Amino acid sequence: MVIVGAGMAGVQTAVALRELGWREGITLLGDEPHPPYDRPPLSKAVLLGQAGSPAVDVRFDVDFEALGVDLRIGVRAQALRTADREVVTDAGPLRYEHLVVATGAYPVALPGTAGLPGVHLLRTLDDAAALRPVLDARQRVVVVGAGWIGAEFATAARQAGCEVTVVEAADRPLAGALPALVTAPMRTWYEEAGVELRTGLPVSALEPGAVVMADGSRLAADAVVVGIGARPATGWLAGSGVQLGGDGAVLADDRLRTTAPGVLAVGDCASFPSARYGERLLIHHWDNALQGPRTAAANVLGGDERYDPVPYFWSEQFGRFVQYVGHHRDTDTLLLRGDPATASWSACWLRDGRLVAVLVVDRPRDLAQARKLIRRSAVLDPAVAADSSVPLMSA
Ligand code: FAD
Repeated sequence: MVIVGAGMAGVQTAVALRELGWREGITLLGDEPHPPYDRPPLSKAVLLGQAGSPAVDVRFDVDFEALGVDLRIGVRAQALRTADREVVTDAGPLRYEHLVVATGAYPVALPGTAGLPGVHLLRTLDDAAALRPVLDARQRVVVVGAGWIGAEFATAARQAGCEVTVVEAADRPLAGALPALVTAPMRTWYEEAGVELRTGLPVSALEPGAVVMADGSRLAADAVVVGIGARPATGWLAGSGVQLGGDGAVLADDRLRTTAPGVLAVGDCASFPSARYGERLLIHHWDNALQGPRTAAANVLGGDERYDPVPYFWSEQFGRFVQYVGHHRDTDTLLLRGDPATASWSACWLRDGRLVAVLVVDRPRDLAQARKLIRRSAVLDPAVAADSSVPLMSA
């Protein structure tokens, strides 16, 4: 059993295999130089530690030795030879009977900016460590991209006392993920936190000490943090017979099997067809990297489990706890519960009268109830669902 990628999904695959009774060897490869660790704190607690204080420990609480897992860190898979059932690594070839691909995603950089001093991405522990001094020195920061990571980094940087500007090519934050009605109140979150948000203008270049916008204007920046999305880290699978989609994700089936015999894929690197939502989903969130591995491990052990989760994620931004459960399309009916100008509210999406997704801002009860309702495809009365004084369960 070989698992490539020692992030959340790879580690959880190893843990699930042992829990479900896999008795043979497990080799877990990861190309980072650190013991496996959790990513969500990297844009939150890890950035906020004070200079000189002990670093937040983000390592997974897993005893790999006790689990009988041969963990090989600092080893990169370079290619896959499915005909020989062999992973080519920079430390030599490795045979497998079963292989789980869990190589996650890599952050997208602005073209031509790789290695420029003062330009940061935020994906790894090393990225977060490189950003700590920026916050400690209260530098002037420009964040490129008002997505989840951009908002979380801006939150931390403001809290540390940095002057922060967020620039976004779209006309609003989170334009790729949420409709305008839901993102409109988020502008105020930036304002209240003292973050300048500039939307509707792309960055044309980065220069030492400045971000140049498409209209020629320049924003002074001691540091630039680029948060414009992530792509599946699947380049090493080119030509292997493991089929990839146009988005670069491994095209897994509903059992998380790939097109190559004995090869499964989990987490940020793989998409899968969802019968629940009637489309293929590529999910770049933590819960998917936790749930998928259980199904993959069960199927390695001879099971025939379908993977069709109700997706879930959270984000902590500008003092708010934002949670989302389900999956919506632009064509679904959107209802607001509560006033988005207030501290807590929700948004619900209905398809053919059935609840398919909910976003909550500091309304944990709606989230808990929505999760149950979505699982059973409950039909809601739109008028009642839009009334925030009535529990969602009663709608
Ligand atoms: P990864 O965590 O990317 O792990 C894959 C591992 O494989 C990496 O260590 C990578 O270096 C390694 N690898 C890649 N290629 C190779 C190779 N060829 N050979 C060997 N190893 C390789 N989600 C939420 O729901 N809520 C949050 O608040 C949240 N916050 C986040 C904050 C940050 C800063 C980031 C970056 C992500 C956040 N996420 C959050 C998303 C969540 O962390 C990811 O969905 C999750 O880490 C995916 O796990 P994974 O194991 O699939 O991929």
